[in-house]
Amino acid sequence: MGIIDFVFPKRCLNCGVSGFYICNSCLGLVDRAFCKCIYCGNYSYWGRTHKSCNRRGRIDGAFAIWRYEGVVRKALLKFKYSFSYDIVDELVKRSINDIKNYPFNLGSVLSTSVPMKSGKERWRGFNQASLIGVKVAYEMGWKFDDDILIKTKNTRSQAGLVRRERIKNLRGAFEINNKYKKNFKEYDSLVVFDDVLTTGSTIRECGEVLKKAGAKVVWGITIAS
Ligand SMILES: [Zn+2]
Ligand SMILES: [Zn+2]
Repeated sequence: MGIIDFVFPKRCLNCGVSGFYICNSCLGLVDRAFCKCIYCGNYSYWGRTHKSCNRRGRIDGAFAIWRYEGVVRKALLKFKYSFSYDIVDELVKRSINDIKNYPFNLGSVLSTSVPMKSGKERWRGFNQASLIGVKVAYEMGWKFDDDILIKTKNTRSQAGLVRRERIKNLRGAFEINNKYKKNFKEYDSLVVFDDVLTTGSTIRECGEVLKKAGAKVVWGITIAS
């Protein structure tokens, strides 16, 4: 129990009913995320990159569990601005069955999260994507390391940029941490976590860095889209 929970008892972030941050009835109002190929934006099964979109060096797919709306959106925002283990716990608990139902065989998995995105996050001292990643990886029995990717370039905030600008903004922004360059190739698949999938440009840029360094299969997983 964190200090925040002690001072303010848990209430649903959407309707205010006590007991949880995410109550069943409010979660019932949130749709599942639309599964799309992050390269063309069109529907694809579980977000797998279409054969026709999958050129050399591109990632194998990315999927989100929920739409970024209602109580899921409120939970992610609340988590972003007031750190609470309980919120991430509830988000992951409510999403894990879908991740377990993932239909492709990933074999042995090494997972990581997108590096901190802005000075603001660094100031707050925690990386939301990494906290989600730790919990999901634990539930899935995957290995997790949050410093496989490092950010080498200070980028502008992605908010307010259109797809093309986002991709350009992030180009060359990530690198693999030297100490992982050898051992990540021992795994069948790599998974990159983030909190929200918008255009997919962050997951895409991170994943392509891993592919370039020799990763066989790379998927992105996010809570919402
Ligand atoms: Zn509610
Ligand atoms: Zn496509």
